[in-house]
Amino acid sequence: GKVGWRERLRKSSAALGLSGLFSRHPRLDDDLLDELETALLTADVGVPATTALIEDLRKRMKAREFGDAQALLAALRADLIALLAPVAKPLQIDPRIKPFVLLTVGVNGVGKTTTIGKLARRFKDEGHSLMLAAGDTFRAAAVAQLQAWGDRNGVQVVAQGQNADAASVAFDALQAAKARGTEVLIADTAGRLHTQQGLMAELGKIKRVLQKVDASAPHEVLLVIDGTTGQNALSQLRQFHAAVNITGLVVTKLDGTAKGGVVFALAREFGIPIRFAGIGERPEDLRVFDAEAFVDALLP
Ligand code: GDP
Repeated sequence: GKVGWRERLRKSSAALGLSGLFSRHPRLDDDLLDELETALLTADVGVPATTALIEDLRKRMKAREFGDAQALLAALRADLIALLAPVAKPLQIDPRIKPFVLLTVGVNGVGKTTTIGKLARRFKDEGHSLMLAAGDTFRAAAVAQLQAWGDRNGVQVVAQGQNADAASVAFDALQAAKARGTEVLIADTAGRLHTQQGLMAELGKIKRVLQKVDASAPHEVLLVIDGTTGQNALSQLRQFHAAVNITGLVVTKLDGTAKGGVVFALAREFGIPIRFAGIGERPEDLRVFDAEAFVDALLP
């Protein structure tokens, strides 16, 4: 549900920085729009999305569509929701596909491991059988971390240890999940290798190896992005998308940032579904992305 979004995002000042704006600028004039533009850019909404939003409001203001600042704010809210509506598409696990394979990718530190734990918990709570593949064989402790998490939560983890071939782990896991009739397989991957090209090549290889077992796999390639990295998120998405065709996003740490506006930039530039938002460290803080709840949490 929507409960909690506003509280979680507000607490850490993830708001678009508009709180005092409309009392400082009760008049509908270019000053108001200039400050609004600065606030959106500061929140990392990005130049193209900000320009489009401001120009729409300017045109309608000149046409005297708005009676007061509140009316303009309502129009901004509607514009922001409209920007996100096309990407607010929840992940659907197709029950006819067994296992439904989620390949999770993302650079180290973005919250990938945490997100996998939260997702696994969600799928379990929904009654799905599931398995994890410990495919981050590069980072020391990543395999052990995933295995420990699986032990605590009664979820089977397929692993071959550190420095094993990640594609071979994925292959084994998919075969095991298939043989067992497991409903969901979440495959972890490295977030860093010796080189960026090396990482992208490895991810491509994992995808091809999965397809040897099931030509339709992976059924979702989920990129985990840290919402606090601002415009950097765009270049990460660009690179991963070129390598493995991203089908869904998870934007994490939106509770701890004033840069959450990057969500609008991502939506506008790529149109890739945003499946989930991370709004805290607890398992229940991974929320199905909800355009209205998100926008309302950011606005005064
Ligand atoms: P990984 O290297 O990508 O696997 O990153 P981790 O899963 O280890 O997460 C890195 C840090 O980010 C940890 O301290 C997590 O608790 C934290 N983290 C992950 N998601 C969120 C979130 O949505 N909100 C907050 N506040 N912290 C998060």
